Amino acid sequence: MVPNSNRLERDLLMSGIASMQLEQTKFKRLLYFLEHPRDNDISEDQIEIAKNYPVESLLPNPVKRHMTNCFNHEDKHPSMKVNDTWVHCFVCNRAWDSISVVRHLLGLNFVEAVKYLATK
Ligand SMILES: [Zn+2]
Repeated sequence: MVPNSNRLERDLLMSGIASMQLEQTKFKRLLYFLEHPRDNDISEDQIEIAKNYPVESLLPNPVKRHMTNCFNHEDKHPSMKVNDTWVHCFVCNRAWDSISVVRHLLGLNFVEAVKYLATK
């Protein structure tokens, strides 16, 4: 049993880590668009590559036994099932494929997310 003061300290550290991860994704996004100027042409091949991109490497939280903490709600225990190219949260009752994970986490539109994954 963790004493209350330690638990508070732990919660503070965890929220610090979470906000640093959020900052990190923002910087990654900015860096990506510096390196890849925007235009709207994507091919069917790029969409296929993006759709089939392994989702696990895109997730912000560690994955154990195909489960991870959901990125869409405050999740203390892993509620998100991790499949090869998509995830499903049992609490949110919602699924995301690799493209929609990138859209959600990096705030990209569909074309931007496809290009991000197809050139990764
Ligand atoms: Zn969720």
